[in-house]
Amino acid sequence: MQRYVCKFGGSSLADGAQFKKVADIIKARPVRKYVVASAPGKRYPDDTKVTDMLYSCYYSAAAGQNYELILGQIRDRYLSIINDLGIDFDIDSEIDIIDSSLSRNPQKDYMASRGEYLNAKILAKYLDFGFLDAAECVHFDDNGVFMAEETNRDLNAILTGREYVVIPGFYGAKADGTIVTFSRGGSDITGSIVARAVIADMYENWTDVSGMLSTDPRIVKNPLPIEALSYRELRELSYMGASVLHEDAVFPVRKANIPINIRNTNRPDDAGTLISSELPRIPRKNKVTGIAGKKGFTAVLVEKSSMNSEIGFGMKMLKIFSDFGVSFEHMPTGIDTMSVVCQTSLFEPHRDEIIETIKEELKPDRFYVEDNLALIAVVGQGMAYSRGTAARVMKGLSDARINIKMIDQGSTEINIIVGVDDVDYEAAIRGIYDAVME
Ligand code: ASP
Repeated sequence: MQRYVCKFGGSSLADGAQFKKVADIIKARPVRKYVVASAPGKRYPDDTKVTDMLYSCYYSAAAGQNYELILGQIRDRYLSIINDLGIDFDIDSEIDIIDSSLSRNPQKDYMASRGEYLNAKILAKYLDFGFLDAAECVHFDDNGVFMAEETNRDLNAILTGREYVVIPGFYGAKADGTIVTFSRGGSDITGSIVARAVIADMYENWTDVSGMLSTDPRIVKNPLPIEALSYRELRELSYMGASVLHEDAVFPVRKANIPINIRNTNRPDDAGTLISSELPRIPRKNKVTGIAGKKGFTAVLVEKSSMNSEIGFGMKMLKIFSDFGVSFEHMPTGIDTMSVVCQTSLFEPHRDEIIETIKEELKPDRFYVEDNLALIAVVGQGMAYSRGTAARVMKGLSDARINIKMIDQGSTEINIIVGVDDVDYEAAIRGIYDAVME
């Protein structure tokens, strides 16, 4: 029989009613054998996530202030889930353990991890599944760096022959037992790690949206959903700001060639978005899969006659950026011109030194810095072997009367990046969307 790993996000496990939906989803298909749980998320827009409550509790304890009130609120959130589900779960003993650790030696990651730990235990009880503590099988080294191969080996050994298990997301432990968390949203990573370890047929990532949309719905009304996309396309789109999954969640499953299906707990019949290495063979109507972008870039432009014949010019220019620890995003060049595009937030602290060094070392004829640049990535694997997409992108921008400041195409031809003024960003996205999506 196939095996699926299902990760449920915080909003999917925010209260008793959501737990019941999750249980219905899991019980609907026996292939759903491994479940990764987040901590209870928001029940309504201005609610507080349990993880945030746990952090506040830790900060109060670490500052020697009273943390009992907030710990009591955390207990109450779990208690209301337990009561709604009608299960027998001794939350007070669990809270006592946390309380005594807080009063003795408050530890930030340990505290943050209790959200997932308790939620996974409660879910396991409700489903009548086994419970496996991530501290036993997700390994970090002494410096707190995740140990991918060791974790994979141990998790595979533990889970071989063991099915119907709930594992808390977001954390693991060092060899001495100290708890370490991933960055925020890290339960996605745990799900991916478990999927790789059990060589799953599918990694279902259940959240509160029916998959990815082809662009930001705050900019374009009702954008088309993305039914399927490749890992490479996902990487391009998420780098440029489209987010449904934690960035690091892609690597383990991609390595093992396991598809990810983003699904909606509140609309379980929606197919969601399927992410895999190979795109489905059905031809896609649109060559463009998605459009994403970000504001806040700076371009440093230099012009020097006969630059093209000066060996090492580009290297020297990039070295200046790297010497100041500023990573660059793009480097469009002309015959005698070159520009380096980087994030303004990284450039700003070294602005004056970088400018001085360029002037001194490269002696450019002309030199200027352009701020307030937005980059937009138009992404689609289909663009590589078809004609006309770039023309449509440009036409879309010209119809929207947008001045294009930069154009760059990735070497694999799966993306076209355009740079526009920050103020034109939204209009540019709308213009491109109208031109390339049907
Ligand atoms: N609970 C953690 C957070 O809020 C991890 C997660 O939900 O993935 O970031």
